[in-house]
Amino acid sequence: MQTKDYYKILEIDEMATDSDIKSAYRKLARKFHPDIAGSSPDVVEHFKDINEAYSTLIDRRKRYDYDALRRLYSYTKNSEPETQSTYTSTPNADSDKTKYQSKNYFYGMWEEFINAQYQQKEYKKQQTPQPENGSDITSEVSITMEEAIYGTSKKINVLHTKPCPKCQGRKFVNGAVCTHCNGTGTEAEHKKFTVKIPANVKNGYKIRIANEGNPGINGGKNGNLYLLIKIENNFDFKYDGCNILRTVPITPYEAVLGADIEIPVADGKVTMKILPNTNSGQKFRLQGQGITKNGIKGDLIVTVEIKIPDNLTKEEIDLYRRLAKIGSDNIRKGV
Ligand SMILES: [Zn+2]
Repeated sequence: MQTKDYYKILEIDEMATDSDIKSAYRKLARKFHPDIAGSSPDVVEHFKDINEAYSTLIDRRKRYDYDALRRLYSYTKNSEPETQSTYTSTPNADSDKTKYQSKNYFYGMWEEFINAQYQQKEYKKQQTPQPENGSDITSEVSITMEEAIYGTSKKINVLHTKPCPKCQGRKFVNGAVCTHCNGTGTEAEHKKFTVKIPANVKNGYKIRIANEGNPGINGGKNGNLYLLIKIENNFDFKYDGCNILRTVPITPYEAVLGADIEIPVADGKVTMKILPNTNSGQKFRLQGQGITKNGIKGDLIVTVEIKIPDNLTKEEIDLYRRLAKIGSDNIRKGV
């Protein structure tokens, strides 16, 4: 540190409370009191620094102002390019010079600031915090296999972190820990989105939504939002290269008489013809309704499965009874 850092002088951190400051001061004032530590210029200087640091940090208004300037100073310092190479010929003398200049620079600002303490406009100008970019957010979205194949639209809720509205992310208000955010400087915000998930997505597919990550601060850029697609297990669907394999139920009478049934596909529905006398396990191929990969278009292969409806009416059961009576062919001949 090339300047007087009141926190370092008192051996405390920026989150120190008033009582931390008081006890640190008491301890150091005793240790470095010239009556105890001697009256060499270094000790006297350090003792003066301890008192100066204490009187500034214990006064909430002064501490707030000092914090603001300290941040501004450290930003200016960090944003300056390293100039060390120009000093290599006489490193010691020049590093002292640099130290001296930095110190003056900081104290010049500090003094000027104290003079202008009541000029609020000037104060606000110097206070202007630096822009900070928001971070990216990754959120998981669960979809069914059917949605993965045919595409869907999903409503999602994403948790964003934005700067605390009370302290603007500074964690302190007038030198005290912000009560709104408990000193975290941030506030959680739920944001709702409706996202279009394209057809033929695979497990682990990522959708990038630009600028919908955590918000930037003070004009910094927003982060991006990444949606990680998770496909729920669904045994009715399988992929086989570019082909989609799917099982579809049909009723006993559709199996006997044949039927035209509707099957959902990528861009709507297609009608599939069930031939009369279709058995469970029979496969039907719908050409070009699979996945397109590297210019190859796969097929949708439907396996039908005869399924008895759950809630048969009395009339239906009566008809089955009649069928049972008049049934002619013994299908278990060879069993
Ligand atoms: Zn706050």
